Amino acid sequence: MLEIRPNCEHCNKDLPNTSTEAMICSFECTYCKTCALEVFENVCPSCSGNFIERPIRPSKMIEKYPASIQRLFKPKELEKARINSKTFKNIHPKKR
Ligand SMILES: [Zn+2]
Ligand SMILES: [Zn+2]
Repeated sequence: MLEIRPNCEHCNKDLPNTSTEAMICSFECTYCKTCALEVFENVCPSCSGNFIERPIRPSKMIEKYPASIQRLFKPKELEKARINSKTFKNIHPKKR
């Protein structure tokens, strides 16, 4: 089950459950679309995997299984992230 983290780990933008801006990697590293696709070029700066749009938990379910309220805000070192993106962005996620 996804935690549904409440914010972008890099820029701290709010990403509530109903946001269509939230992107996650397979480890649920969570970023806004701008950070995931423009800053990190669809390469997760932590695990080098790709991102997909986070699904929205339906309203009935979010009552029973609430979204996380634990904010994780750890801006990435841009120089390192840039090297990581450059290394992996042209390699299909299947082959990373
Ligand atoms: Zn962001
Ligand atoms: Zn990741």
